[in-house]
Amino acid sequence: MNQFLQNNLITIIIFLLLIVFSLMGAMIIILFRLLSDSKKTDQSTRDFYSHTKLGNIKKEEASSIVIEKNYCSNHSEFASVGSCLICEEVFCDNCLIDHESMHFCKDHFRTFANHKWKQITDTRTTPDTPEDGLFIYNFKRDQWLNNKIPSFILTHYKINIENDYIESFIQLNVKEEDAELLSNELLKYKALD
Ligand SMILES: [Zn+2]
Ligand SMILES: [Zn+2]
Repeated sequence: MNQFLQNNLITIIIFLLLIVFSLMGAMIIILFRLLSDSKKTDQSTRDFYSHTKLGNIKKEEASSIVIEKNYCSNHSEFASVGSCLICEEVFCDNCLIDHESMHFCKDHFRTFANHKWKQITDTRTTPDTPEDGLFIYNFKRDQWLNNKIPSFILTHYKINIENDYIESFIQLNVKEEDAELLSNELLKYKALD
């Protein structure tokens, strides 16, 4: 048997090498297939997104939305540092006015300073019910976008020691002369919500 092995050693080595090479070949083919499959998946995910609502926004529009979110509404070359409480547009450091921890653009700081304001809500939300105040934000945005009625929301936080969580109170502030009308409108709005 040893004699046989010695005589055929080269044949056996060549045979083993052949097996190793064919295994490597098989592995390369499998790897290649896996890679091309994952490319296909990428493509189909992309196709999927381009058919969803978000994807319906043209690429240029989508990128301009991103730019608006990151750059000052007055200066497209300056990064935004925050948004105005009234119009919710974003502004750079030069355009945003910080007044007692409230931020306004220059126009709306004037609006704020020239009117008396009345708080018309004090809606409590908890970590379990964060959506309870959502209708106020939607109402506020609606009033501004559709009726150009300015208002702003302040959030007052309170630590509930007993239950160990933070409660928020959503406080909608409107011009004194709008208070009665908007209180009624808000009630209707909440009922529809
Ligand atoms: Zn503003
Ligand atoms: Zn600016």
